[in-house]
Amino acid sequence: MIDNTAMYKLSYGLYMLTTTDGQKQNGCIVNTVSMLTDNPKRVVVFVNNANYSAELLKKTGIFNVSVLDESAPFELFKQFGFVSGRDTDKFAGGRYETSANGLYYLTDHANAYISAKVVDAFEYGTHTLFVAEVTEAEKLQDSKSVTYEYYQQNIKPKPQAPKAEEKPTAEKWVCKVCGYEHEGELPDDFICPWCKHPASDFEKVN
Ligand code: FE
Repeated sequence: MIDNTAMYKLSYGLYMLTTTDGQKQNGCIVNTVSMLTDNPKRVVVFVNNANYSAELLKKTGIFNVSVLDESAPFELFKQFGFVSGRDTDKFAGGRYETSANGLYYLTDHANAYISAKVVDAFEYGTHTLFVAEVTEAEKLQDSKSVTYEYYQQNIKPKPQAPKAEEKPTAEKWVCKVCGYEHEGELPDDFICPWCKHPASDFEKVN
């Protein structure tokens, strides 16, 4: 048997991944960045293929990872996690600087950034695994890096419980990852429109 709740016990950080199509920049939030080797200094990042960033990484191959800290507000996750960079300017209103590769990195709510260049890409169905060579890296401050668990417990808003006097009219499901609410029956092949996670990441709230 495979107990899905065992998978939830893996620990993850949260990172802003910035990419470019050659002109316009894009950003998204990912939870899978790790160092692969120290010499040469290489990192890996997994990106959902439904995400515009996967397409851009295959096209131009350069990216920055900003390591988010515990001060990161929900609005940041909403802005970069749940809307597509194809048709919005996600960077409007935030605080960013540009690293040597020409890409943005976050200067508030991040404690470090790493610039890298893709050397290999491996397709695994829904996701692509990118292996990349680090070209620049800098610590910005000593704040605590945010974990996915901390995000779930302290940053993501709690779903609203239905008021006692209100009769629940339809089934309601909430995405455990991003908080998206779905009303009515949830099909098995449902994909969260905000964070692209599957139906198994939804919980029934009434
Ligand atoms: Fe979601």
